[in-house]
Amino acid sequence: MSWTDLARNGRILVVDDAMENIQILHHALREEHEVLFALDGEQALQIARDQQPDLILLDAVMPGMDGYAVVAALRGSPRLQDIPVIFVTALSRPEDETRALEAGAVDFISKPFNVAVVRARVRSQLTIKRQADAMRELSMTDGLTGVANRRNFNDTVDAEWRRCARAGLPLSVIMIDIDHFKLYNDHYGHQAGDGCLQDVSAAMKRCATRPQDMLARYGGEEFILLLPQEGADGTEVVANRILDEVRKLALPHAASVTAPHVTLSMGLATVMPQDSSDPHALIRTADANLYRAKQTGRNRYCISLDS
Ligand SMILES: [Mg+2]
Repeated sequence: MSWTDLARNGRILVVDDAMENIQILHHALREEHEVLFALDGEQALQIARDQQPDLILLDAVMPGMDGYAVVAALRGSPRLQDIPVIFVTALSRPEDETRALEAGAVDFISKPFNVAVVRARVRSQLTIKRQADAMRELSMTDGLTGVANRRNFNDTVDAEWRRCARAGLPLSVIMIDIDHFKLYNDHYGHQAGDGCLQDVSAAMKRCATRPQDMLARYGGEEFILLLPQEGADGTEVVANRILDEVRKLALPHAASVTAPHVTLSMGLATVMPQDSSDPHALIRTADANLYRAKQTGRNRYCISLDS
């Protein structure tokens, strides 16, 4: 099996202070999975942060930070809290098992290992994890266009707002609306309207490709582009790129009074976030600028002169 196939079958972090246990588990799992290991709790958390494993096999009893402390630290971190943990321990009393499960472990394996049992439990936890990831992905994505949905945007803009406030960096948004979209639907039908939303959102996505950029469907034919760490000048560059890309699509729009093809209007807004404030005013400003773009002829963007 190739390295990429192994990664697809799940990345597992094995944590144990005894090297021989790591070797046994590595041997048991390496044919099907990518296996990482750590010899203590601190190292385990560091690797979990850096490598985002799909599953952690965690020794309960270790010098220094023990397994229970590691689980508590994982559960306290938004980025790590969803990684499932199987406790692996020589302790086998029911109260040990209960304590592990109450701490947040999803399963419990006793030493000495039965390799077949370990493999089967790992496989079943990875399947559950994969399903949970898929559900989470679906709940954050707009079904038609595949871009982020509004709830995902609301969560992300709050997090990016705080991040930019701490770092002293600007944050920008572009509110985007497809011009005369109701007329498009009336003229071409709703199925074509859906296709238009898909094509236009894909084109817009090509215009903002930094990892922190997020395009979200905000309502029917309304989208919002979040540009963390981007100032007013860079935001105008992105807006011009979007106008270009959508022009290049050249989607016919016979019912439009603005142009013979599909166009859009945009409102831009940029701010230096403060910890004491929130993104609402920024989004209102972008919305007001979008309204001005509509009033002054569409197929353009407007930007606040005072921002
Ligand atoms: Mg140990």
